[in-house]
Amino acid sequence: MQISKKSVFDIAIIGAGINGSVLAYFLEKAGKKVAVFDGGGIASGGSGAAGAFISPKIAKGGDLKAISDEAFDFSLAFYNNYFPEYITSSPLLHLSKQASENEKVRYFKEHTSLHVNNPSEALMDILEPSSKDFESLYLEKSGVVDAKGICKALLSGVEFINEEVTELSCVVRDEEALLGCKDNIWHINDYKALHVCLATGAYKKLLDLPYIALRGVWGHRIDIETSTIIPVNIHQYVSISATKKGKAAIGATHDVHFHPQKNTQAYDIESGRAELLKKASQTIKLSDLKILKDYVGLRSGSNDYLPIIGSLVDVEKTIQKFPKILKGKKHPREELCYYPNLSMINGTGGYGFVLAPYLAKKLTDKIVKEKKIDKRLEPVRFFERWAKRV
Ligand SMILES: Cc1cc2nc3c(=O)[nH]c(=O)nc-3n(C[C@H](O)[C@H](O)[C@H](O)COP(=O)(O)OP(=O)(O)OC[C@H]3O[C@@H](n4cnc5c(N)ncnc54)[C@H](O)[C@@H]3O)c2cc1C
Repeated sequence: MQISKKSVFDIAIIGAGINGSVLAYFLEKAGKKVAVFDGGGIASGGSGAAGAFISPKIAKGGDLKAISDEAFDFSLAFYNNYFPEYITSSPLLHLSKQASENEKVRYFKEHTSLHVNNPSEALMDILEPSSKDFESLYLEKSGVVDAKGICKALLSGVEFINEEVTELSCVVRDEEALLGCKDNIWHINDYKALHVCLATGAYKKLLDLPYIALRGVWGHRIDIETSTIIPVNIHQYVSISATKKGKAAIGATHDVHFHPQKNTQAYDIESGRAELLKKASQTIKLSDLKILKDYVGLRSGSNDYLPIIGSLVDVEKTIQKFPKILKGKKHPREELCYYPNLSMINGTGGYGFVLAPYLAKKLTDKIVKEKKIDKRLEPVRFFERWAKRV
């Protein structure tokens, strides 16, 4: 169906990865007229490459652990309740990679509210002997999502516009709106919307936001066929999914040296495969193994490892209003100048499928009901740090 370029969308989301797709889903359910733009197609970025394991972050504490625990519960229930055909549920067997990680796994077992046990001896017997030297835990519930399938399903009720956004500008109708930011229209290529949300992952930047630094970490994962029966999802040196009809997913590498937009040499797929298979074989012997498909993509991580959701500070206008901000003077966040009706959802690192439903719900509540966002997650935190440095 041809979409009229004259109509004004309530919200335009740029990027059809898991973050953009699930945000579109919640906004559409909240009654908004949503359009999602992606030049590469649905889940053509990091999301399409993901193994999409839904598992909690095993850590001793910290903000990311607290947020990811909450998100894990929320997102697992979300996928199971609303999209059960796109999630394969299995227990999780998590093993330390080395002795120095044992303490972290023990701490997690003792402090988590999740239903955690020690794995049975029978389960441990399927592993390579050396992998059993370390601390382990067994979690009743975890899952693997069909990454591309879920993004497509989330967008099924939403306008999808298969275009790379190259032009993004805001026409402010009322000078007052420069500070209050009310009456304005965003132009997205030839389309218009009242609100824009950037869900562009680690790919090209659309606006000059010098305070937002996103690291793209390249990853490679594979689908395999094997005669070995793997009854649970296993996480150790890499993640190995439970087998379904003799097939499993292995992922993923963390390659900080390769970047598709920066490297001149092509990515070496053979060495990525070799690394994945070597790491998997340290945990479990996979018999009659055949590689079915390779997936590669960038994860997008923030400098403090926490995800980023919320409104974006307009640097130029804020500095004009508060020139001393660059000399270290502090101002309350609500007094800074923000782009009118512009939000971001990004920085979900290696946990995008765990975090996205939880974050997108929070961002929807902000956009629709003006609910406040957790201060730790707002993009303005990076502006404050950047202004101090500059
Ligand atoms: C190999 C690998 C394995 C992973 N495994 C897991 C896992 O097991 N569990 C888990 O939870 N997470 C996993 N992740 C992480 C997860 O995939 C990411 O956190 C998640 O994909 C981020 O989603 P996103 O929507 O922010 O970004 P992306 O999926 O990268 O989407 C951004 C989209 O924006 C589009 N875009 C950018 N600029 C424009 C523009 N100007 N116009 C139009 N479109 C634009 C891009 O084409 C892209 O499709 C993995 C990642 C990788 C790479």
